[in-house]
Amino acid sequence: MKKKRLTCIALLTVLLMFAQAYGDGTVTVSAGDPSQSPAPSVLSRSETDLTVTVSDSSDETAAQPEPTEDPFPFIIRFGSRDENKISLSMDDCYDMECIKETIEICKEYGIVMTFYPLGIVLHEEDREIWQSVIDAGCEIGTHTMNHGALGGYDTRVMLASILRPQERLDQVLGYHYPIRTLRPPYGNIEDANGSIKHAYNVLKRAGYDHIVNWDVSQTDPVKAVPRVRNGSILLYHARPVDVRCIRTIIPQLQEKGFEFVTIAEMIGLSREVATSTDLYVFDMANYE
Ligand SMILES: [Zn+2]
Repeated sequence: MKKKRLTCIALLTVLLMFAQAYGDGTVTVSAGDPSQSPAPSVLSRSETDLTVTVSDSSDETAAQPEPTEDPFPFIIRFGSRDENKISLSMDDCYDMECIKETIEICKEYGIVMTFYPLGIVLHEEDREIWQSVIDAGCEIGTHTMNHGALGGYDTRVMLASILRPQERLDQVLGYHYPIRTLRPPYGNIEDANGSIKHAYNVLKRAGYDHIVNWDVSQTDPVKAVPRVRNGSILLYHARPVDVRCIRTIIPQLQEKGFEFVTIAEMIGLSREVATSTDLYVFDMANYE
């Protein structure tokens, strides 16, 4: 054994001398030394909770990624379990009467929530309603243009599906209100192979560092309330049964000491939204 190792060392020494004499000055040793190979970013997905972490497989000898203060994974289902903040969210938003009623409930109880309308439900004749959502301190996010499953789209269709609602919202409001959070239809961005890598890359390109799902989806108030924990994100839709549930659970959750925040706030974004007079116009060329 010892003799073999000595032979190896001798051979290596000869090789190194050869490389230094005839090579370009750099010596690459690759076998058995992973730190010398490029470190790919690896997407790993936990099957149980859809939590995605992007890990860098490099060791301490390779360049480390910039430290980030963002404590959230790419797919968010809830906020901090250490704070008593919770978020109500309402998807699709086909029924504008339900939106109006929900806003009245928010004002009545002094709470805020987040709406995820589809792009196709944003109409100029509803300008007042959407403005009242913002005036109530609530957030408008996006749920894509028309509820297609994002994971099945190619890059261009996915970009258009995510970003066109911003153009539409600005037209409806008459000014630029930046959409900051995204809820994917069905809470899913997997492709046919069960991978989220493609959607992850496109969403990052579109400016989204996260997608926001939920950890409580229950329209029966009796079942909903006990499921709410610190950081819970509750999913609702603009339907009468959902509005009735929201009306019932809000005072009960307030009594339990929960504070209602928008999703943006839940994931650490500021409460203030930087609006502007420059209406957003979607142009594919800006993302290619
Ligand atoms: Zn939906």
